[in-house]
Amino acid sequence: MKRYSAFALVREALRDHSGWKRAWEKAQPKAEYDAIIVGAGGHGLATAYYLGKNHGITNVAVLEKGWLGGGNTGRNTTIIRSNYLQDPSAAIYEKARSLYETLSQDLNYNVMFSPRGVMMLAQTEHEVRGYKRTAHANALQGVATEYITPERVQELVPIIRIDGPRYPVLGALWQPRGGTARHDAVAWGYARACSAMGMDIIQQCEVTGVTQENGRVTGVETTKGAIRTKRLGIVVAGHSGVMAEKAGFRLPIESVALQALVSEPIKPCMDVVVMANTVHGYMSQSDKGEMVIGGGADGYNNYTQRGSFHHIEETVRALVETFPMISRLKMLRQWGGIVDMTGDRSPIISKTPLDGCFINCGWGTGGFKAIPGSGWAMADLMAKDAPGPLSAEFGLDRFRQGRFVDESVAAGVAH
Ligand SMILES: Cc1cc2nc3c(=O)[nH]c(=O)nc-3n(C[C@H](O)[C@H](O)[C@H](O)COP(=O)(O)OP(=O)(O)OC[C@H]3O[C@@H](n4cnc5c(N)ncnc54)[C@H](O)[C@@H]3O)c2cc1C
Repeated sequence: MKRYSAFALVREALRDHSGWKRAWEKAQPKAEYDAIIVGAGGHGLATAYYLGKNHGITNVAVLEKGWLGGGNTGRNTTIIRSNYLQDPSAAIYEKARSLYETLSQDLNYNVMFSPRGVMMLAQTEHEVRGYKRTAHANALQGVATEYITPERVQELVPIIRIDGPRYPVLGALWQPRGGTARHDAVAWGYARACSAMGMDIIQQCEVTGVTQENGRVTGVETTKGAIRTKRLGIVVAGHSGVMAEKAGFRLPIESVALQALVSEPIKPCMDVVVMANTVHGYMSQSDKGEMVIGGGADGYNNYTQRGSFHHIEETVRALVETFPMISRLKMLRQWGGIVDMTGDRSPIISKTPLDGCFINCGWGTGGFKAIPGSGWAMADLMAKDAPGPLSAEFGLDRFRQGRFVDESVAAGVAH
């Protein structure tokens, strides 16, 4: 596969762009693979990529029931940050954030990582205390964040109203190297890099069953036939419970729809990401000028994967007090994705009761930012059949042992 380069751009410009090849090869399933990943979202593709890059395992298939990146990876609001409270979370999210810094070069694909800074507003005394505590924890973890004053907030975000009647801005937790990336490009970049290593990415191929013998995985049944493997990674986010059932075990997980919306495009007015967790909304401006607005999750479990009117109203109403200018914006479209929530709001990267079958899920409302770190940790787990430093605390056994990684403050609402 030819590498993308400035030279290739010039060459193709001169010959009317007739020489570009498919970004990744279209593959049909083989009878057997050394490893199969179910789910071609960012986490599944990153797992495959690091299996090849870090462990030399390249006889790998990634099976996707729809189209690549069509799940939450292509539906999220792309916030990247690593300002979590607990050490295991800070470690994996910071690993991911630092991999994002050079991901475009690593994948030879522009993922448009934009470390424009992420700000989490403190709008109650409780949040002030919580974010100061997180800033101290981050200092110990080596994650660069700081607690900033309302005046500094205003300086960084001129369109914000800091003296709102109900929820004035009292300060903020600020991560200057947090930001955004282009979500589709992250999936496409990993897919292309996997394909370049000879892996098969097979779309429109739903896994309908998991075959096993004597407690060990032997393969999968799919809409394109049966495929054998001794190493299976389930990375299907909102459908993790469904896939686990097919493999014969249960997960402590709930699936709910999480929604977002974008406005019409306007001129540049905000060059950082702002999260307002008390009123429950967050906003950034896309490169096209749209205000990207995220809201909360539905209050009941469902698999609908679509937006609803009351969420637009609730989210915009919540944000208008802090950002009065958005009251005059027209909203362009809204959508939903099915996210997988654990009780402690931390992910699961784990072996399962079925030998040779591994699961990566539970990223809930905030897994886009984790994609490179999660793929790295999952590949390590699958290659060595044992948890590594990044995944050790995120095993399934923590729910039996009551050893939670409680991130409900840092991750329960925010993204
Ligand atoms: C509205 C919204 C906003 C969000 N905002 C943010 C944010 O700002 N920052 C952040 O960090 N995170 C955010 N998230 C969360 C983030 O999107 C997810 O945590 C992350 O994308 C999960 O990636 P994934 O690869 O695990 O899952 P997905 O991208 O959902 O991929 C799973 C794939 O598995 C496939 N699949 C399912 N079942 C099968 C089967 N049986 N056979 C084959 N394939 C199957 C699905 O089709 C899907 O493509 C948001 C999510 C939503 C919905």
